[in-house]
Amino acid sequence: MAAIRCAQLGMRTAIVERYNTLGGTCLNVGCIPSKALLDSSEHFHNAGHTFKEHGIKISAPQVDITQMMKRKSQVVQQSCDGVEYLMKKNKVEVFTGHATFKDSTTISVKPEKGNAVIVVGDKFIIATGSKPSSIPGVKVDKKRVITSTEALELKAVPKEMVIIGGGVIGLELGSVYARLGTKIKVVEYMNSLIPTMDKGLGRELQKVLKKLGFEFYLSHKVTGVKAAARSVTVSAEDAKSKTIELKADYCLVSVGRRPFTDKLGLDKAGVKLDERGRIEVDADLRTNVTNIFAIGDVVKGAMLAHKAEDEGMFVAEIIAGQKPHIDYNLIPGVVYTWPEVASVGRTEEQLKEAGVDYKKGSFPFRASGRARASMDLDGSVKVLADKITDEILGIHMIGPRAADMIAEAVVAMEFRASAEDLGRFSHAHPTFTEALKEAALDASAKRAIHS
Ligand code: NAD
Repeated sequence: MAAIRCAQLGMRTAIVERYNTLGGTCLNVGCIPSKALLDSSEHFHNAGHTFKEHGIKISAPQVDITQMMKRKSQVVQQSCDGVEYLMKKNKVEVFTGHATFKDSTTISVKPEKGNAVIVVGDKFIIATGSKPSSIPGVKVDKKRVITSTEALELKAVPKEMVIIGGGVIGLELGSVYARLGTKIKVVEYMNSLIPTMDKGLGRELQKVLKKLGFEFYLSHKVTGVKAAARSVTVSAEDAKSKTIELKADYCLVSVGRRPFTDKLGLDKAGVKLDERGRIEVDADLRTNVTNIFAIGDVVKGAMLAHKAEDEGMFVAEIIAGQKPHIDYNLIPGVVYTWPEVASVGRTEEQLKEAGVDYKKGSFPFRASGRARASMDLDGSVKVLADKITDEILGIHMIGPRAADMIAEAVVAMEFRASAEDLGRFSHAHPTFTEALKEAALDASAKRAIHS
């Protein structure tokens, strides 16, 4: 995004990537392959569980994981090819190799084979992203104790998998394998799932995933992971020091990611890191070195592809002397389970802590005609609005296609809509978005129509 926007704005632009394909974590080992597997596994699950009720008779479906993985790889390949095409179209020069600063205006790019190339620039944008982190005492061997990268490449459907961390990656990849028949056991340190999102969402998601066969061990601290040739044993204890031992084929470690700046030569360029290993930036995303900027997972803020994309555009425009703006409060968060979880703005917990007087409205999908037609009755939408002005302060939903619906909430909040505004806008019938309209009406004046 940053490279394309820089080129659009007339800058001579080059991009350096150490892997052979562009696209970074998102395209290669993150968002795109995981969504491909989520879609495939959902089709399989529906074939086995909902087709019959829809009046479709088939014999028991079987998983062909080789084909499933092959299709996923094709989706990744097409996306990477698309990015390569965009670089050519925008005349962005691509260097393949590991970049290291020599000083604040020079980098050396070392390809896997051959000599390093020296690249000089007026301005630099660091977008080196993040890598999976682990926890003390847990050694990720990438064989039995794996990260999301390996979980996207399994050759057979495991019988059992222990997942450390009930956050986004754990629940998305857990959903993939649970739908394919794996017994999933999630060990989470906090007392709820997706703990940084509105608490109601974690509670509802837990109920739904239990129906899919997930087992949860909340408020449990992992004390050790022992890998054998074909299995792994995870030990954990609860707040009262009661211990459990969970055996499985694999242990997926999904306890967050760490900013990646290894061998980047930041010391040579004079760029400072903060206490959590992130590159320190100001409001313009400029580091302490005036010609070097940083964006995405390697700086503070949510580790989300769309946040990084927005920052890429922002920083290109800052360099070009424009005055772009990002409202960090309005970056939506999405979890691609089914039902999906999506959220924007402040949570109830944050509003309470800040002492803001708010009112809330909600609407269950159970009462939506569209949701009944598609058999997607789990979940609800919650709208939080200022008690006096009625301005929308947060929207949190779990339900069918919430990932797409949250865009409406973002637009409304960007324009500082009131809950009444949202309740008065026309929403096509029958759609899932009517639940948002109804929740807004409920928040505004307790006048939802269909509940
Ligand atoms: P996360 O922060 O979403 O979840 C990590 C979970 O691990 C948290 O619930 C945390 O409480 C728990 N945890 C931490 N230490 C633990 C311990 N010792 N024992 C048990 N539990 C522990 O991180 P993630 O799921 O690894 O994802 C990494 C990053 O990638 C996140 O920033 C996420 O937003 C991003 N991501 C986003 C999407 C999406 O937008 N749909 C998808 C995948 C990943």
